Amino acid sequence: METQLTWYGQSAFKILTPTGKVLLVDPWLTNPVFEKAKNELAALEHVDLILVTHGHSDHVGDAVEIGKRTRAKLVATFDLSAAIVTLGYPSDLADMETTGHMGGTLTLFGGEVAVTFVPAWHGSAVSKEETAPPVYAGTPAGLVIALRDGPTIYHTGDTDLFSDMALVSRFHKIDTMLVCIGDHFTMGPARAAEAVRLVNPREVIPMHYGTFPVLTGTPAAFEDELKKRKLKAQLRVMKIGETIAMRAR
Ligand SMILES: [Zn+2]
Repeated sequence: METQLTWYGQSAFKILTPTGKVLLVDPWLTNPVFEKAKNELAALEHVDLILVTHGHSDHVGDAVEIGKRTRAKLVATFDLSAAIVTLGYPSDLADMETTGHMGGTLTLFGGEVAVTFVPAWHGSAVSKEETAPPVYAGTPAGLVIALRDGPTIYHTGDTDLFSDMALVSRFHKIDTMLVCIGDHFTMGPARAAEAVRLVNPREVIPMHYGTFPVLTGTPAAFEDELKKRKLKAQLRVMKIGETIAMRAR
């Protein structure tokens, strides 16, 4: 079976692995731009892993609800995992097996899925309600998700450009880079294109744009910035709710 990738808007993705494992990353399905969120949430009966990059509500999203219902295990850094448990994520699904930290790799399902935590330059706090004091959630992360017989995917999380992104590809040949381009809270198109230069993926998929008016970066502007730099990464722009097939290298 081929790997499939679904984009729900913002930084939320579903990855269906070659062996049928279902992974959700930053699962904010009930965002302002994904109209079929209710149906999709109901259809998510089987989820193996929920991976979260940092504690902001547009990334934790519907993780607690989905985790409780599907019994998916929570993949996050130590501090973030503890913070999400305070929101109600079952603690028995957030144990040491799926909790790690920067530079570490979790080897899951006998090596079918390997997740490495890499740095990101952003914030990370969990808020229970808008007026409640934020709960400490450590430092934000990017995730390198390596699938056996499938692609290796780098989800940048929310971040600025930083030169150490080049170290990601020293240890992992990245097939697909999911990169934030929306500006305002993260890199915009120009800085994201520089990030692509550092990581040198086979293909790049933009995310974290268009959800709110302030996220002004567009795929067209990003494409211009990639072309200006003559980068050979193939740009793939996904529609919200779309599922695409992914190739292993
Ligand atoms: Zn965000």
